[in-house]
Amino acid sequence: NEILLEVKNLKKYFPVRKGFFGGQTQYVQAVDDVSFFIRKGETLGLVGESGCGKSTTGRTIIRLYNPTAGEVIFGGAEIGHMKENDLHPFRKKMQMIFQDPYASLNSRMTVGDIIGEALDIHNLATGKERLEIIHELLHKVGLNPDHAVRYPHEFSGGQRQRIGIARSLAVRPEFIICDEPISALDVSIQAQVVNMLEDLQSELGLTYLFIAHDLSMVRHISDRVGVMYLGKLVELADSEELYKNPVHPYTQALLSSIPIPDPDVSKANQRILLEGDVPSPLNPPSGCRFRTRCKYAMPKCAEAMPEMKDVGGGHMAACHLL
Ligand code: SF4
Ligand code: MG
Repeated sequence: NEILLEVKNLKKYFPVRKGFFGGQTQYVQAVDDVSFFIRKGETLGLVGESGCGKSTTGRTIIRLYNPTAGEVIFGGAEIGHMKENDLHPFRKKMQMIFQDPYASLNSRMTVGDIIGEALDIHNLATGKERLEIIHELLHKVGLNPDHAVRYPHEFSGGQRQRIGIARSLAVRPEFIICDEPISALDVSIQAQVVNMLEDLQSELGLTYLFIAHDLSMVRHISDRVGVMYLGKLVELADSEELYKNPVHPYTQALLSSIPIPDPDVSKANQRILLEGDVPSPLNPPSGCRFRTRCKYAMPKCAEAMPEMKDVGGGHMAACHLL
């Protein structure tokens, strides 16, 4: 399939001023030189511990944030530095589903108006047609047309996430960023929501960036998976390849912390424990950012930042061992 989205050397730094008077400005390097692409109709999983920059990557792609540097190419157009007016048609093509289905819905609006607001912003429908679309969307996500007149607090977490999904679908997007859409839900509901997202994807030809902190959550929904650590993409491969043959020490550690024993994962990768905290992104380690927690760290790792290399068949990783 053709490439729908490409991110090239994307950086997002947030300024932090230390002290009130004349303090120096430091920068949190939330996303630092990240590159990847997503094909049309594909799901790319993006995983890493909290604070690794995966949500910031998603928010920068859909221009909730302006990138500090780098390119975001969507359907052939560079949108990373586009002015707001030119960006308007793209805002319709790219939507986001948020982690917290409680905080992301306006509690004072009815479900119908929450979904209809997206139609209004883009002048897509009014009156009877608008109402029909709202009912159809509720049906698509497994809710009833009667739910349109009710308020978010009347629904469970899983139902609210369905409302959030219906809202994102209202503008007929091509690309949806799912930012930990199931992390806040009961385990019993998680599979239902993932299955629904997969059904909607094949029905509507959607392309997903699926963000999660846990590799086990993205395994089945993702065609390919990228792993982030402290603002850097450290490994990216086809989903099954990544699980069977992780080559970056951080990915190996993440996989070994999955509690369910997996016969597909080689024994050598099963007993690596991830020790220590993630260092501050304000002052990341020199060279390889993982070196303070890596059991293979060598002098070179402090001196040079490892580049992403193809270790075969599009399996990319950034580590001096390779
Ligand atoms: Fe470990 Fe060095 Fe590889 Fe970084 S570059 S993951 S510190 S071996
Ligand atoms: Mg997040």
